[in-house]
Amino acid sequence: MDKRTAIAKIKALAESGDTSGSNIEAVFARCYNAIKKTLDMTPFDEQLSAALSLSDGRMVQMQTGEGKTLAAVFAACAEALNGGGVHILTFNDYLAKRDYNWMKPVYDEMGVSVGYITESTDRVQRREQYKKQVVYLTAKEAGFDYLRDFVCFEPDDMVFPEELNLAIVDEADSILIDEARIPLVIAGDIAAQDSSDVAEVYEKLSGFEEDSEFEIDEESRNVYLTDEGADKAESIFSCNVYSSEGAPLLAKICACLKADAVLKEDKDYIVKDNSIILVDEFTGRAAAGRVFPGDLQAAVEAKHGLKITSRGRIMGNIALQYFARLYPKLAGMTGTAELAREEFEKLYGLSTDIIPTRLPCRRTDHPLEMYFDGAEKRRAVLTAIKEAAEIQRPVLVGTESIEESEELAEALRQNDISCAVLNAKNDEQEAAIIARAGEKGAVTISTNMAGRGVDIKLGGEDCRDKDFVTDAGGLLVLATSMRESSRITRQLRGRAGRQGDIGESRFFAALDDGLMTKFELKKLAGRHYPTQRISGAIQDKTLLKEADRVQRISEGDTFDERINLMKYTMIGEKHREQTFRRRKALLEGSYNSDQWQTHAPDMYEEAVKKFGENPLQEKQNLILAALLNEFWCDYLDYTAYLREGIHLTQVAGRNPAEEYNIACEEYYDSAADSIPERMAEKLGELLECDSIEEYEVQMPTRTYTYLLDDMAEEFKTKPLLLNIFDEEEPEPDKKTTPEKAPKEEKKGFFASLFGKKK
Ligand code: ADP
Ligand code: MG
Repeated sequence: MDKRTAIAKIKALAESGDTSGSNIEAVFARCYNAIKKTLDMTPFDEQLSAALSLSDGRMVQMQTGEGKTLAAVFAACAEALNGGGVHILTFNDYLAKRDYNWMKPVYDEMGVSVGYITESTDRVQRREQYKKQVVYLTAKEAGFDYLRDFVCFEPDDMVFPEELNLAIVDEADSILIDEARIPLVIAGDIAAQDSSDVAEVYEKLSGFEEDSEFEIDEESRNVYLTDEGADKAESIFSCNVYSSEGAPLLAKICACLKADAVLKEDKDYIVKDNSIILVDEFTGRAAAGRVFPGDLQAAVEAKHGLKITSRGRIMGNIALQYFARLYPKLAGMTGTAELAREEFEKLYGLSTDIIPTRLPCRRTDHPLEMYFDGAEKRRAVLTAIKEAAEIQRPVLVGTESIEESEELAEALRQNDISCAVLNAKNDEQEAAIIARAGEKGAVTISTNMAGRGVDIKLGGEDCRDKDFVTDAGGLLVLATSMRESSRITRQLRGRAGRQGDIGESRFFAALDDGLMTKFELKKLAGRHYPTQRISGAIQDKTLLKEADRVQRISEGDTFDERINLMKYTMIGEKHREQTFRRRKALLEGSYNSDQWQTHAPDMYEEAVKKFGENPLQEKQNLILAALLNEFWCDYLDYTAYLREGIHLTQVAGRNPAEEYNIACEEYYDSAADSIPERMAEKLGELLECDSIEEYEVQMPTRTYTYLLDDMAEEFKTKPLLLNIFDEEEPEPDKKTTPEKAPKEEKKGFFASLFGKKK
């Protein structure tokens, strides 16, 4: 049945009240009536169309404000009534709770159980919530629960559903693309990572000069020592920084230099309550709990004279993109899917359906306005805001950083224009502020996508001054710079002109913007690049065209990066799944370890006599569960260590991804082979004990979770790596390449180069 026919049928069934069937049209018709009855809203055809696409496991593009929340309910109910569980993955906790409360009457009417989970939901409640047919929660909360289950030792502590089914991802491009690589991490206090001497290293580096002693790679934002710098470091620390013993020190040196010269307070992170809080580069919001990778966190702490925090040992991690892929069925919705169509297809096998807006869009989107420099640009932005403020037209300004937001707010204050600043520092009130951004005379300044998912109604939440604001031209959206991806700009523009409202968007950039210098607009534009100051917007068409190209290059780069990364991450995913599954089965009791019976039968006999068969089996399962944790910690350490050295493989003209995969596989197999032996050792220790309780199983006393942008970081440190795939003769990198390594046997080259960590 084509969509149009299906929609007509649904409405006809709903009208007639004959909705008892179990086919999708009948269920949708029931849902249609339930919505009318409980929420007093009549679903639009566009919402039914979106719902049908979602039910079909597709990515739906539906503009902001068109009513995606409602569309998801149809698909969720249909799946639930068909016997499958549904997780609706929301953009943040606030929206999980909001959408749950908002839609609960509909689910009640449909006889479908529904729940929600936020960061503050405790373990007992979580267990209960996960039993509901439909659960609203963020991918982050769900992913952390998945990880926490891997490190718990009581079956009753496990909360996550045994089998996943369908995930409907809201604001899908955020989770599936922008945040896709961000790993969720769980760490435990089983052996702390030692960054304690970073403060000392930081002190000693104070006199290092940029250019002569270290260089900054603009693109990767990483810092390298020059030859002169390396010599100086060697005399300060009396250690060869390029030797294998010197490697940890070199990492600390680079981290300290980077913390000092590259990372900026209020742009990359904020300092709050004596701790460092990262700022998410996409949302511009403080990412509580997220830390910089490796020694960098400690280095930034040292920079601000803070106490160096210890982070324990990483016991498990999963990138959001892989977490999403754990669901056998996936569907998504966002206002900007079209621009990422290929990526959704390639990474997730999701095809995209574009749902037209219900009413024609009446927003005027102006083309890019380019200015000579930041100062010119700020003047233009300020003028635009002033003009709007004079006629009390609401303005929403999207900035790139908290710093920029505050500067702009200050400039406005000096001009007697009051504004609301929506940023990482007051994210509690974020939703409330953004909801009021359409009020008469409102000036709202926000970083990238803060407040996503919250409706902006013209004339205020109650639409009191709708006519006034409409006459003034509706909401004006200003984007103050070009973003890594046009999707982000598009998302911002989409804030205006909702549901056929009038609106306008303007988009500013300057020649000295980060993106323009990073991708060398000057080179691209050639003689069209102005050599003298120009006041006002630059009109040169070629230059503007090249600036657009900068954005496409940036998009292509990040896309390729993500695809390439998968060549490194797939293998770990496979191993993780095997390990997690095995451990889960042990704890749930669906699988009993027979390691001792098979590999240490004599000791086993003796232990049965001493402790009894059942207690011994229980203990064996627990010990194996703990050993699998240890095994996995070692695996994560080892693979991180491998990736550190990946760039060296190019020296021997090898394909680093392939080498990496071989090395991981070898490590996994050999570590798995060692399990019987390690288990037997533990049985020996157990036999020494007088009672079975006396033997303590190694488990963490405390675990904690955080988000870590480490994959991205780690691979960004190898700019070359990303360019050499499938190339015959890679260019050796002067900065990172030591003496040319001899050619070796292909298999296991990597492992032989680095040796195996024991
Ligand atoms: P989106 O997630 O697509 O941005 P929302 O689901 O937040 O949009 O809905 C935006 C607004 O549209 C909400 O205020 C909601 O009440 C309203 N809305 C959605 N569907 C309907 C409908 N069928 N009839 C009337 N109002 C609707
Ligand atoms: Mg929404």
